[in-house]
Amino acid sequence: MAPASKTDVIICGSGAAGLTLAIDLARRNLPFLLIDKAPHPFVGSRGKGIQPRSQEVFEDLGVIDKIVASGGEYPLQRFYLEDGSVDKAAVEPSDPTPDAPYQIALLVPQFLTERRLCERLVELGHTPQYSHELVGIEQGSEAVTAVITSPEGERSVQAKYLVGADGGSSFVRKTLGIEFAGKTLDVRAIVADVLADGLSFDVWHRWGQGTPAQVSLCPLYGTHMFQYLAPIPFDMETDLSARGLTRLFRQRTGRDDVVIGQVSWASAFEMNARLAATYRVGRVFLAGDAAHVHPPTGGQGLNTSVQDSYNLGWKLAAVLSGGPDSLLASYEQERRPIAEAVLGLSERLLEAAKNRNTGRTREINQLDLGYADSLLSKHYAARNKGVVVAGDRAPDSPVRGAGGLPTRLFELFRGPHWTLLAYDVADATVVNGRCGLHIHAIGPSGDIIDTDGFVQNAYGLSSGEWVLVRPDGYVGAVFPAGEVGDIDQYLDAVGLRRSESLILNG
Ligand SMILES: Cc1cc2nc3c(=O)[nH]c(=O)nc-3n(C[C@H](O)[C@H](O)[C@H](O)COP(=O)(O)OP(=O)(O)OC[C@H]3O[C@@H](n4cnc5c(N)ncnc54)[C@H](O)[C@@H]3O)c2cc1C
Repeated sequence: MAPASKTDVIICGSGAAGLTLAIDLARRNLPFLLIDKAPHPFVGSRGKGIQPRSQEVFEDLGVIDKIVASGGEYPLQRFYLEDGSVDKAAVEPSDPTPDAPYQIALLVPQFLTERRLCERLVELGHTPQYSHELVGIEQGSEAVTAVITSPEGERSVQAKYLVGADGGSSFVRKTLGIEFAGKTLDVRAIVADVLADGLSFDVWHRWGQGTPAQVSLCPLYGTHMFQYLAPIPFDMETDLSARGLTRLFRQRTGRDDVVIGQVSWASAFEMNARLAATYRVGRVFLAGDAAHVHPPTGGQGLNTSVQDSYNLGWKLAAVLSGGPDSLLASYEQERRPIAEAVLGLSERLLEAAKNRNTGRTREINQLDLGYADSLLSKHYAARNKGVVVAGDRAPDSPVRGAGGLPTRLFELFRGPHWTLLAYDVADATVVNGRCGLHIHAIGPSGDIIDTDGFVQNAYGLSSGEWVLVRPDGYVGAVFPAGEVGDIDQYLDAVGLRRSESLILNG
């Protein structure tokens, strides 16, 4: 074998988790290698719900509009009842608010989401290497070496870190011997992408809801296909052909006016709820389904995977630029409890679905997830309850630049940097400039003006307070007036270097 080539990060798996991480590293100009053992991108619709928090992440990564344009909002659900009548249910409409611009889950087939992410990655100068399979991992104190096979043969690549974003059957997790405790749920199902004649494309058609004989066809916006979903007994032989799916549909609905014409992707799967015992061993991390799997109810899987990577990306970049390893330790500390909670949520929703109950709660949109208990969240006892505190998602707010043009806090946050908001602070230059930190003074004589009081409403700030927002859009701390020393201490601790040219105050 040729001598190992070198890179900073190897990402194993180019699903939603791997692509998100790759985009985040690419926009920071870090060298990495993204490989996937599959010969081509994934072609199925399976994780089709994009939750509001993931939409915010995609906005930051520069791909939201293309993802929105690739799908649509969730359609009305039409329930065909046993007595021949029809019932309807719509996803509760929710208008955007100044602090949360995305309120509604989008329906985008997973292969289209991944295609848009891949296109974004290409814009940034990278592509996944398909037909490249990770078959070995060796760790040392300074590096990790990956053995990769491809049609060109076997090669080894040395990196500072390796991320296993290689799905529920993760080779990386198994190779590291990480326990994947949990349970196999008592549900097996068929999911397939099909063309269907005889059904309107404007609603999600559902039969037998709340019974083991349910079947549903959900229009996949951005395509002409439906997602066919049906629970099946464990001992049933599956026929995933168009003819087999039509037969099962007819048995369950009694309707012979609907014909499944073509199947572009189909799978029969058993639902599991499992969580990796650890997300890190040495220089190797797990992200996405490699670290947690749960039932598809509530559309949480892909979203949780994307947000794992979004949490890990900036920390890897910071540590590769000399930041403290504690940042990487915070990845598992922050993300594993989230996955644990999501596991519980999707199991509860699965139970509710068995009784024709959507069980939907605000939790599903993932906007309230946060990292209050993280080592990176610095709390002050005096901060009121009910307003933004350390660890919370930093809300959006429409504001105006001093130049007169409207903008938003999310515009100020967009990119790989940290952001420090100085709220009605007499002199924001008392904080020394740092590489990778954007400082904005909000107030009548600042560079940003809270024209309509939206910042005040969303954050509940008092004059003189400072809000430090992490690169992934979570609040690191709300510093009280006068605690400039604490701000410097925090920034030192996360490895943000002082800029010699900007040191004005010592
Ligand atoms: C049948 C089914 C239905 C689902 N329905 C929903 C849903 O409705 N809503 C929802 O939110 N989620 C759903 N999910 C979950 C969702 O699809 C996943 O959470 C999501 O795909 C996770 O993304 P990922 O990038 O972590 O992993 P994956 O998408 O699994 O990607 C992992 C990648 O790693 C590659 N890989 C594996 N091993 C290696 C190796 N050794 N070397 C190189 N590459 C490797 C694979 O080829 C694959 O491309 C469903 C999952 C399944 C299986």
